[in-house]
Order: sequence, then structure tokens, then C-alpha cells
Amino acid sequence: MALDAPTTSSSTMFAPWPDRLRHSAIILLAAALVLGLLVLFDELLPFRALIAFLCIAAAALVPWRLHSAAVAREDVRGANPVEAPAVSALVAGMPDPAVLLDRAGRVIHLNAAAAQLAPALRRNELAQFALRSPEIITALREAIATTEPRRATYLDHVPVDRWMELVITPVPVPTAFGGTDKCMLMTFHDLTPLRRVEEMRADFVANASHELRTPLAALSGFIDTLQGPAKDDAKARERFLGIMHAQATRMARLIDDLLSLSRVELSAHVRPDTSIDLIPIIRQVADGLEPLARERQVVVEIDLPDSPVTIAGDREELLRLFENLIENALKYGASGGRVIVSLAAAVSGEGTPEIRVKVRDFGPGIAPEHLPRLTERFYRVDVGDSRMQGGTGLGLSLVKHILNRHRGRLLIESVPKNGAAFTACFPQQKPGVAK
Ligand code: ADP
Repeated sequence: MALDAPTTSSSTMFAPWPDRLRHSAIILLAAALVLGLLVLFDELLPFRALIAFLCIAAAALVPWRLHSAAVAREDVRGANPVEAPAVSALVAGMPDPAVLLDRAGRVIHLNAAAAQLAPALRRNELAQFALRSPEIITALREAIATTEPRRATYLDHVPVDRWMELVITPVPVPTAFGGTDKCMLMTFHDLTPLRRVEEMRADFVANASHELRTPLAALSGFIDTLQGPAKDDAKARERFLGIMHAQATRMARLIDDLLSLSRVELSAHVRPDTSIDLIPIIRQVADGLEPLARERQVVVEIDLPDSPVTIAGDREELLRLFENLIENALKYGASGGRVIVSLAAAVSGEGTPEIRVKVRDFGPGIAPEHLPRLTERFYRVDVGDSRMQGGTGLGLSLVKHILNRHRGRLLIESVPKNGAAFTACFPQQKPGVAK
């Protein structure tokens, strides 16, 4: 493997040299001794002995020189920085998927994230074969030809849709021969979260405009009628003004909910730290909704402890939260004729103590397929029913955000035809934490 190349070459370069030299020295020493003795006993002429010694010396030294030259050549190849472990470690250590290509578009290195993103990418194979998008192939060709960075979009559909921006950056990598090799560094940046936020923002604006436009259209329609055909009709004027008042109230409520939602979102990261007793807050909301309960002929049963139950909370937000839950129960569960608001201490799934406030009604309930989407903005089970009730479709979304800020959670249980129960769970206040 390329990673091992320089280590191997450096060991062959340095470790065997003294051994080989030592062997040559021993041979030369032995040859000198034998030849010296032969000359000493007049068995060999000194001139011939010298010739023989030179031949032996050449035989001992030349193969060693040849070997060292071969090792040096091998080392030059192995020390190519493109293959060096540092380059490979750099690519491997990049947080995003990254691939290093040679000037032909062949993969030299790729990190684990890239291998996971595009399993067809293989070392020593052309990247074009793996990333078959014409846009990417063009970008790669252009980056190689112009040595300028190029961008392309990479779409992945498995296991979920992902949008990636692919950036191809030419990088000159120095070679062992003093020049540079033009390589291409290909990095992928996941734009999926940004894209999702962008889609959500666009949906939100479209929904909010639609919700505002509906009552606005009704208002201007009635204004036209009152100025024209119904100008002198006192009875019709009275009726239309009543409808206009309801529409204007709905618009005001929608704007109110939108502002509350954005306020809660803005402070989502700041957990409320004021000690609040939940009991008077729940009672205040229930008292305020008494006229609505009477109008809908619903009996509200309040089952709360006598002693204070404090949590770290924001008073205004908690009023809003319970108002939404109890009002929904009175509006959508009115047919059950009964709503129970209760408070109890419990233990969460993670084993932490919490306070649960449950609002239970005995109305038509909610079909299970709607439950996971109820806290989405503008989601309603029945849009017409919600509008008739003066709903904005933002109430439960606001409840969820307020609970998130309080580090709590919302439990929704429902049995169709047997009512629904919405439970707000708050972490129990640790002694001495809140003011
Ligand atoms: P809305 O302003 O429409 O009431 P919410 O976010 O408060 O908006 O509620 C979303 C939808 O959830 C409602 O339109 C309604 O269809 C459904 N819903 C909420 N509470 C209840 C309930 N207690 N019983 C039945 N359906 C409910």
C-alpha cells in the first residue's frame, strides 16, 4: 500500500549499508592477508598480488554500489508526496466527505465519509464512473482544464433525500523531483438542513399569507356589499358587521399567535428561571374560559392539589399554554360535555421526576394518523372546523415551543370517539436552582 512505501524505502536505504560495507571490508582484509603471506613466502610476485587485490576489491565493492543506486531510485519513487501518509491522513481527517484525485480524475485517497456517501468510489479508479452525474463530470473536466475551482450539486436519494454541494479544488502537490503534481480535491458539503429550513420558511410564509388573506378577502367583500347593494339594509348591515368583527378577531389572533411563536423561538435557548406556582395559573385560565365552557355547555372539573406546585417557568407563556390546551378541549371536545384538568407528580422515561398537567376531554377524539403532526404549524385535522371555531392552527405548535423552552414535553393520547388527553410535562424544579 502507498502508505507503507516511504517506511520500507527508508529502512532499505539506511539499515543494510553498514552490513554490506562490513562484509566488503572483511573480504578485502582476508584477501590482503592471504596475498601478503603469498608474497612473503615468494609464492607470488608483488605486482601480481596487487592486480589480484584490485580485482577482489572491485568484485566486493561494485555490486554494493549497484545495489545502493537501485535503493536510491526506489526511494525517489516511494517518497512521492501524493502517496505520502501525511496527505492520506489529511484527507482521512477532513470532517466532510473528501476525495483526492489525480489529474486524470483517478481516486488517490478518499476518506470514510466519502466511501459511505458514494460506495462506488474506489482507489485507482476514475471518479467519473462512480459519480455518474453529467454536471459533476463537466465540473471535474473544467477544474482539470482550467485549474480553477468548480462547484456542482450532488443528490443522494438513499436512504433519504440529501442535497450536497460538491466543490472541486485543484491542489498543486509537490513531487520528489522538485515539481508539482496537479491533483483535485473533491469535497462534499451537506446542504440538506439548510434546504429543509428554506423549504419550511417558504411553507410558513405561504401558509401565513394564506391564513391572513382569507379573512381579509371576507372583510373587503363585506365592505363592498355594505357600500353597494346592502347600503340601506339595516338588518343585513348588522349581520355583516358581526361577521366582519369575527374575521377581524381571527386576523388579530393569528398575528398574535405568530408574534408569540417567534418570541418563544427567539428565547428557546434561554430556560426560564423564575419559580412559578402552577396552581393559580391553571385556575386563572380555567376561570377565564368559564364563559366559553358555559356557552359550549361543558363542565370543567379541576383536580389540583391544595399545596403549591412550583416549577421554573415563564408566567405569560404558561398562561398561554394552558389557555390553548383547555380552550381546544372546550372547542373540539364540547360534545363530550366534560373536561378534566388534573395535576400529578410522575417520573419520566429517563427516570427524572416531573410535574404533569393533563387536560382530558370526552369529545370525538383524534384519529391516530393525525397525532404526530398536530404540533406542526397550521396543521389541523379539519380546516373548516378549526376556522369555524376561530382557530389559527398555531395553538399546539406554540404549546410545543413553550414546553421545549421549559425543557418539558407534550404527550398526546386519544381514542377516537372517546376523547383526547393533552399532557404538559415539566421537569421538577431542583431545590435552590430557581429564583
Ligand atoms: P387550532 O387553532 O386550529 O385549534 P391547534 O394547533 O390548537 O390549532 O390544534 C390543531 C388541531 O388539532 C385542531 O385544528 C384540531 O383539529 C385538533 N385538536 C386540538 N385539540 C383537540 C381536541 N381536544 N380534540 C380534538 N381535536 C383537537
